[in-house]
Amino acid sequence: MSSDGQRGLLLVVSSPSGAGKTTLCGRLRREFPMIEFSVSYTTRAPRAGERHGIDYYFVDPERFSEMLARDELAESALVHGNSYGTSAARVHSAIHEGRDLLFDVDFQGGRQLKARFPADVVRIYVLPPSLGELEHRLRARATDAPEVIERRLRAARDELQHYEEYDYVIVNDDLDRAYEALRAVYLAERQRCSRQRRAAEAVLSGQGYLLVSPGMVAP
Ligand code: ADP
Ligand code: 5GP
Repeated sequence: MSSDGQRGLLLVVSSPSGAGKTTLCGRLRREFPMIEFSVSYTTRAPRAGERHGIDYYFVDPERFSEMLARDELAESALVHGNSYGTSAARVHSAIHEGRDLLFDVDFQGGRQLKARFPADVVRIYVLPPSLGELEHRLRARATDAPEVIERRLRAARDELQHYEEYDYVIVNDDLDRAYEALRAVYLAERQRCSRQRRAAEAVLSGQGYLLVSPGMVAP
């Protein structure tokens, strides 16, 4: 726990592949640089432009199995034939040091994180405006081979069934409008009483609290 007792918020964003969560999360991180991104471990091969340690930690299946066996993952899942998982140590330190953490994980990961950290997790589901538009975006992104795109499209219908497990649903039709909705959810959740101990304690102690942006105090 941080010295002032404030816990970090765990913001989980999920969607079928191609709905736009990477784009939306990227905007959120640019506007609120103090939100940290939870870099996942995966056995998937890197796409062009993806960097080890920034987009993912790219590991071989043996290393992934070792991490699982040592209970080093807060959650893990097999998605589209590859293993993905989140470092447990990273999540614990963010919660206890009062830092907000953003997760791009599938519904299985979201479910496991909610079960493990029920008071800290807020789950947001991003819906494409239609299945046709989802297909169009996946093809236009042109980062995956045609057979990989086919596989992801087949999985999309099943994944979409899980939207009801989430706290919020955002339809990513117009990007600016969808981003406003994501931003609104983050800001509202950050102002919850349970997440404002740092501000309240600073005011009560007479020290005062100068807000630069939500969760960030002026140096
Ligand atoms: P995901 O992370 O969910 O797989 P991406 O963020 O990579 O999806 O988005 C898939 C593609 O759709 C990208 O090429 C992105 O630029 C585009 N995209 C995202 N949001 C929109 C939107 N609202 N309208 C049109 N294209 C979008
Ligand atoms: P991609 O291969 O397109 O980057 O991601 C494929 C899917 O895996 C997406 O739905 C993404 O949210 C999910 N994913 C990425 N990292 C993790 C993780 O650490 N855990 C889980 N459960 N899913 C993840």
